[in-house]
This record gives sequence, C-alpha cells and structure tokens, in this order.
Amino acid sequence: MTKKKAISTEQIHHPYKPPEGWNAVPVPVAKASTVLFKDAADLHDYKPRDGKGYRYGLHGTPTSYTLAARLCTLEGAAHCLLTPSGLAAITLVSMAFLRPGDEVLVPDNAYGQNRYLTESFLPHWGVTHRFYDPLDAEGFKSLLGEKTKLVWLEAAGSITLEFPDLAGLVAACRERGVLTALDNTWGAGVAFQPFELGIDISMQALTKYPSGGADVLMGAVYTRDQALHDKLNWTHEHLGYGVGSNDVELVLRGLPTLELRYRAQDATTRGLAAWMQSRPEVSRVLHPALPGSPGHEHWLQCSSAGAACLFSAVFKPQYGMAEVDAFVDALQLFGIGYSWAGPMSLAVPYDMSRSRSLPLPYEEGVIVRFAIGLEAEADLRADIEQALVALLK
Ligand SMILES: *Cc1c(COP(=O)(O)O)cnc(C)c1O
Repeated sequence: MTKKKAISTEQIHHPYKPPEGWNAVPVPVAKASTVLFKDAADLHDYKPRDGKGYRYGLHGTPTSYTLAARLCTLEGAAHCLLTPSGLAAITLVSMAFLRPGDEVLVPDNAYGQNRYLTESFLPHWGVTHRFYDPLDAEGFKSLLGEKTKLVWLEAAGSITLEFPDLAGLVAACRERGVLTALDNTWGAGVAFQPFELGIDISMQALTKYPSGGADVLMGAVYTRDQALHDKLNWTHEHLGYGVGSNDVELVLRGLPTLELRYRAQDATTRGLAAWMQSRPEVSRVLHPALPGSPGHEHWLQCSSAGAACLFSAVFKPQYGMAEVDAFVDALQLFGIGYSWAGPMSLAVPYDMSRSRSLPLPYEEGVIVRFAIGLEAEADLRADIEQALVALLK
C-alpha cells in the first residue's frame, strides 16, 4: 500500500474523473494557464494552436475556440481572433499591418479611441495618417497614395452615425490593392455581411451586442483570407492578447439572444428617433434609417435589415452645453455613461466641433447620443419628454 500523501498533494493530484458523456446546453467553461502534456515527447512535438490544438491557456481553450467558431458563423468569416476589448481588436489590426513609412486612412467619424490611437500613438511608430469624409467616395480616391497601406471603415460612424458609401470606398481600395478593415460593432453581423461587400478584415467590440449584458469587455477580429489571418494571428500571439474563460462564457450566453435583442432595440430606437425628429427643441436627428440623415441612401443600399440602437439628436443652436447637460441630468431612465447595446438606455452629450478634422455634415449644435436599451419605448419617450422641460429653465 502506498503511503498516505499530504492533504495538499492529494487534492492537487486527485485521481477522480467524472463520468464521460456530460451534455448540456451551455458550453463548459475551461480555464487554464498550464495545459498538461502527456509526456516530454508530447511537449517537444510542435502543436498547432489557433483552433487546432492546445499548448498554453493564453492561446486558446475549448471555450474560447467555441466562441470564435460561433462568431465566424455570425460574421461570415473563416477565422476569428479574440481580444481583451474592442479597442484591443483595433490595435491588433493596426499593429499587424502598419509599418514605418506606411499611411493609414481613417474616417473622420471613427470610434474616438481609434482616432486617438492613430493621432497620438501610431506616429511614434513612423506611421502617418489622414482622416477622410466617409460620405465622399470620389474625393477619397485622391487620398489613396503610394504609402497608403490600410483603410479603416466604420458603418455607421460613431456619434454622428453617417453611413459611409461602403461600396464606393471598398471599390476604390480594391482597385489600388489597399487593405480594408471595418469596425463592424454597429452592424454586429446582423445588419449586413461585411465579407460579402469585399471587405478584407472586420472587427467587433463584443462588449456591445454579442455580450448584451454591459458586464464584459471583449473584441474580435475576423478574416476570410488565410494569409491575412496568419499575420494577425502571429501579432496576436506576440502581443500576448488573451481572454478569460468566464468572460468568454458571458459572451457565449449572449449569442442566442443577439438577433432578438438587436431587432427589439432597433425597433424601439427607430420609433424614438422619428418622434425626436418632430420635437421643436431639436434641429435634426442623426440615424441611418431616417430619410435625410447623412448617408441614409448608402444605408438603404447595403443594409435594409438593421439599424442598431443608436441615434443622436442635434439641439437647436440656442441650447448650449449647459442647457443640454441639464436635460441629460433630468433624464430618469437613461444612465449617463459610455458603451451601448446593454439592457439600460444611456445618454451622452457631445460637442462635436472639438473632435473632428473635417466639417460636420449638419448644422452646428450640441449633440446627445442616445443608446437605447431594452426598456419599453413609451417609458423612454415619456422620460425624454419630461426632461426636455429642463432645457428651458
Ligand atoms: C465600444 C466600441 C469599440 C471599443 O470597444 P471596447 O470593448 O469598449 O474597447 C470599438 N468600436 C466601436 C464602434 C465601439 O462602439
């Protein structure tokens, strides 16, 4: 009989294995830094990671591979890499493809953190940039030069929600052999299929719709092309980007209800946006599905199916930041905070004149960006209505 081992040793090396055949709806949560090898030969044997094998927890677990596979189906992609945030997905793309001497083109209405990365970080790596008007595919052509390596696209753009001329922009890039990367957080794989439009790389903040819970930060980068994926994957490994399985579990839990939430929030948002447009305090509402909103005709061309949960109201010029702040503070059901596509509706006031390089495609005015959650439309409308009184005080 073997000598009894210490409690710690026994617990760490316990021989019990649960019976085979566990089968349930949720995906099991596999967590590890160390992945155990059968023997030394197994360790020496190079194992493909990237969805095909296991070597170290950072490079993938059964849980993360399952999420990546499900997301590929959603996005119409062949490959998916998970990152610790949506912003990390953006930096992964830029760091994988940009080298000293290259230029990157970014839409003027890009997600703010992508702007800051491009303006303040990439210059340290010898990468130059220009901001372009996403509504003007003709003018855009003249910006594509010898040094242009990568073009970012975003549909609809952040805060002002202009829907770009995707077909025109992508055609110009393809003609010149320039890589295109789309921030598809807004479309979420529901509104349109980016790879069908000829886009090379797509990314999403899983923080938004795929999670849906306002409780997790994660991102994903998608490709169809193997060589592009290999380059991204190599960069992903070297940067040490990993995701925790508890967070992966939260996103897996969100996916079955993603389309239902998208459609429900979309419907509430369209109702509120149209009503807000009729309000005397507002000079216009920015929402791609509203006729007259910048890029509405491009949205119609590429995505009649979805319009997400965001709209922005441009307040008439007599209402300055102080009045609009008072309106936002008077809202009861809307939280004041960033992010969107969670259960709670949110409102954020913006002075856009400070964060753009090109002229804005609408008359000046303070903006409130509304992110509509899962509350009932009538309750949200009544809340906005009562808060508008604060504008006049
Ligand atoms: C939120 C957001 C991101 C960044 O996602 P995080 O997970 O918050 O880093 C990127 N792009 C768009 C369009 C977003 O709305």
